[in-house]
Amino acid sequence: MRDFSTDHRWLSINTATLRGEGSLDRIVAACARHGIGAIAPWRDQVAGIGLERTARLVREHDLALSGYCRGGMFPAMDAAGRRTALDDNRRAVDEAKALSAACLVLVVGSLPGALAGAPLSKDLFAARSDVHDGIAATLEYARSVAMPLAIEPLHPMYAADRACVNTMEQALDLCDAIDPTGSGDLGVAVDVYHVWWDPKLEAQIARAGRARLLAFHVCDWLVPTRDLLEDRGMMGDGVIEIARIRGWVEAAGFSGWSEVEIFSREHWWKRPADEVLRTCIERHRSVV
Ligand code: ZN
Repeated sequence: MRDFSTDHRWLSINTATLRGEGSLDRIVAACARHGIGAIAPWRDQVAGIGLERTARLVREHDLALSGYCRGGMFPAMDAAGRRTALDDNRRAVDEAKALSAACLVLVVGSLPGALAGAPLSKDLFAARSDVHDGIAATLEYARSVAMPLAIEPLHPMYAADRACVNTMEQALDLCDAIDPTGSGDLGVAVDVYHVWWDPKLEAQIARAGRARLLAFHVCDWLVPTRDLLEDRGMMGDGVIEIARIRGWVEAAGFSGWSEVEIFSREHWWKRPADEVLRTCIERHRSVV
């Protein structure tokens, strides 16, 4: 297992962690001040300053992209809706490619309308079927431009609205069904926040192996958690044994970035970016 205690060369910052700082150019400048080597930006943040300007900033600061957030949201009520989702995923692949991202992260979606608070269906099986077909179609295009796709299983509390893929096992079953060769074009993003509770986690990480492990996201699970989406903890402030999980991931062959992804409306998004980054670096060394 790599020693993270003396430097932060493997630390990546998911730019959602610094939403409180405002626009992406300010976030990139803050990361540069702290010697961060990689980021994972969100599409809305990139759209905020433009793709070309983002690409220029990434080059200027010699930043790698540990991932690009995000594609997915495949299920829809009809063919036109599914087509719209595929078109959008194609654009996401192109943006990820323009920024030389390590992978495009997929949050696959679930019941149509649920994310807006008005589910139009209760058919989780149909949603899963749309997800399978959507990933297969997107993979075909992503392969043609050499952009790996990383399915991110989400905690089951999001099963209705954000993702009907909720465990590593389920995500890997999908990978095996769609991409049986295990070429490295399709894999998973392991986010400790979503999977730490899973009794099968160690075995499924081993099953994933180097070819399927495309990203590793860290934060912590706070007790109590006050908001289902925006109350993630700083590493070390919650109950996840992050280093143990990183040990499993690295034993399986993963040697990429450790990406800090913290949605924290009431705490970290209200702190100055320099304080957030100083804390990320310190915790990356001590508890990741
Ligand atoms: Zn994540």
